[in-house]
Amino acid sequence: MKFKALATFACISAFATAAFPAHAEWITRVTDGIMGTRITVELWTEDKASAEAAIDAVLDGMRHIDESMSTYKPTSEVSQVNARAADGPMMISKELFNLLIKAKEYSVITDGAFDITYASVGYLYNFPKHVRPNEMQIAKALPAVDYRHVILDPKSQTVQFTQKGVRIDLGGIAKGYSVDCGIDVLKAHGFTRAYVSAGGDSRIIGDRFGKPWMVGIRDPRKGEGELIASVPLVDAAISTSGDYERFFDEGGVRYHHIIDPRTGHSASKVRSATIIGPYATRTDGLSKTAFVLGPEKAMEIYNRIDDIDAIIVKLDGTVIYSKGMQRGKATPPPGPSPQ
Ligand code: ADP
Ligand code: MG
Repeated sequence: MKFKALATFACISAFATAAFPAHAEWITRVTDGIMGTRITVELWTEDKASAEAAIDAVLDGMRHIDESMSTYKPTSEVSQVNARAADGPMMISKELFNLLIKAKEYSVITDGAFDITYASVGYLYNFPKHVRPNEMQIAKALPAVDYRHVILDPKSQTVQFTQKGVRIDLGGIAKGYSVDCGIDVLKAHGFTRAYVSAGGDSRIIGDRFGKPWMVGIRDPRKGEGELIASVPLVDAAISTSGDYERFFDEGGVRYHHIIDPRTGHSASKVRSATIIGPYATRTDGLSKTAFVLGPEKAMEIYNRIDDIDAIIVKLDGTVIYSKGMQRGKATPPPGPSPQ
């Protein structure tokens, strides 16, 4: 059956600006409630009105992603896919198709730890309501969990599930993707120093006039403002996944929102994992792996991927770093000095 694709939305929407530099300043806007999370946009501008309009465009893009990709919205394109893709090939928007291709790529490089079909069992959990499936329900749903059940045909831009019971959820990648779209919008409007974040996923362009942006990594067992580290970043993305984000404790066990696709249970092998890389889609897609595979196996994978670095807080609270972050390794050769 053919799905009527949502009107194609480009990351970048055009609008005219009448730049008239009065004075330059940093502008910050914090918005709650899109994709169920907090969005922060900060940028340097000489024209407040055009900056505010650009931020509006960033937030419009995020609302669009929420509308088309949320599984909480029955009308979303992803909900339509979940309802119908087991019946046959279904045409989807280019934007969703491309993100499904990316999701599959991350499944392959993480040995299946990242898998959007986790939702085939994941939908049985409701963390705010302390609801979790029993072993029988998990055993019944688990065969539908496997990214290889999602067939993507680039020629016809269709998606098909190989069997009934398969569900997808882009909660582990859509926020990172929305941040990349936000950065694209700001770049297209000429901004060169900016920060966009959606929950645990952030990306930065430019520096803060010779200084890096400092992004804090929260201590997983302390309050929101308590950090285990602050990472200096320029032109980079950073994503943190934590077992403290959406969870409930029962009988001494923590049930939280990252699911091991092999078992259908909460994946609890680390307390948090932070990935640094060029794009937030990528850092978001890779930050779940450590929970599923454990710190050693995950770090092996992270160290194999050239363009990323990782910081993992293990279950005992110790912190380990990828090779690129260890002293001496990441220091670039000094460039020519202007004076
Ligand atoms: P946030 O939603 O705050 O950005 P994460 O980046 O850690 O948090 O993503 C957690 C989300 O990832 C979960 O809420 C769920 O939607 C999704 N998810 C859970 N387990 C997996 C998995 N094994 N593979 C892919 N996505 C997952
Ligand atoms: Mg995320």
